[in-house]
Amino acid sequence: MKPPRFDYHAPATIDEAVALLGRYGGDAKVLAGGQSLVPLLNFRLTRPAALIDVNRIAPLAYVREDNGTVAFGAMTRQRTIEFSPVVARRLPLLAEATRGTIGGSLAHADPSAEYPAVLTALDGEVVAQSSRGRRTLRADTLFETYLTTRLAADELLVEVRLPAMPAGSGYAFEEFARRHGDFAIIGVAAMVVRDGARCVTARLATAGAGPVPLRLREAEAMLERDGLGEPAIEAAAARAAELVTPDGDVHATAEYRRHLTGVLTARALRRAVERAR
Ligand SMILES: Cc1cc2nc3c(=O)[nH]c(=O)nc-3n(C[C@H](O)[C@H](O)[C@H](O)COP(=O)(O)OP(=O)(O)OC[C@H]3O[C@@H](n4cnc5c(N)ncnc54)[C@H](O)[C@@H]3O)c2cc1C
Repeated sequence: MKPPRFDYHAPATIDEAVALLGRYGGDAKVLAGGQSLVPLLNFRLTRPAALIDVNRIAPLAYVREDNGTVAFGAMTRQRTIEFSPVVARRLPLLAEATRGTIGGSLAHADPSAEYPAVLTALDGEVVAQSSRGRRTLRADTLFETYLTTRLAADELLVEVRLPAMPAGSGYAFEEFARRHGDFAIIGVAAMVVRDGARCVTARLATAGAGPVPLRLREAEAMLERDGLGEPAIEAAAARAAELVTPDGDVHATAEYRRHLTGVLTARALRRAVERAR
C-alpha cells in the first residue's frame, strides 16, 4: 500500500526540528531509521500531517563517556553501538542487544525490543527536548504501555544516558524467538557484580513479558541476599516467572511466556555469572 500524504521536512538543527514539532502541535512524526515508521505509514496505521526527518542533524549521533555515564545521541545507529569500543568496555550488555537506532527503538517502545529492556535493567534515562526546554525521563517512567511512551507528541528524544557498568560485572541478554532475526517472544537482560560467592548487585529486566519492560526486583533481591550459586539462581528464576503477567497472543500463550521468563532468567544469570570476574 502507499502511505497517506504528508508534509516532509528535513531540518538541519535540533532547534529547527523542535520548532517544527511544536508548529504541528502533535500531528507530526519524527523519522529516524524509518524501520518501524515506514511500514506503519504504508499500512496506514499512522497518518501524521508531517514527517520531521532528523537524519541530517549530525549533532544527534555520538557516543560519549563522561563521569561514569555513557551518553548516546538519539540518532546513533545500532551498528555504531555494536562496534563502539566505549560500549564494549563500559556497557557490554548493550552490545548484546543489537537492533534498531537507539532513539527510534526507545521512542517506538515495542515491548519485545531489546534496548528498552537494557535501559530498564541499567536504570538509564533519556533526554527529551521541545520548545518548552529539556527534561529527563528515567526508564521506569518513560514506558507507559504497548508502543507508547510518556514523551509528548512535540518532544524530540535527543539523548540516551546509561550508567557505565561496574568493572568486572557479568552480563547476558538471553532471548527466545521462533526464527532467527524475529522479535523475541521473551528476552531477559541480566547484569551481576560479584565479590567471590557474594552478589553485590543483580539487575534483571524482561522484554516481551508485558506491555513494558519489567525490572524483576524481587528476584534481584534474592540473589543479593543468597549469592550466585546454582540454588540461588534457580530460586530467583522461579520467582522471576511468578513476577511477570504476560499476555498471550498468536506467537505464544501467556503461560508459555511465563515459563520462558523463568528458563531465560536462569540461562542469563548463569552466563552473566560465568563472565563476572
Ligand atoms: C522486521 C523487523 C524486525 C525487527 N526486529 C527487532 C528485534 O528483533 N529487536 C528489536 O529490538 N527491534 C527490532 N525491530 C525494531 C527496529 O529495530 C525498530 O524499527 C527500531 O528500533 C526503530 O528505530 P528507527 O530508528 O527505525 O525508528 P523509526 O521507524 O524512524 O521510528 C519509530 C517511531 O519512533 C519515533 N521516533 C524515532 N526517533 C525519535 C526521536 N529521536 N524522538 C522522538 N520520536 C522518535 C518515530 O516518530 C516513530 O513513531 C525490528 C523491526 C522490523 C521492521
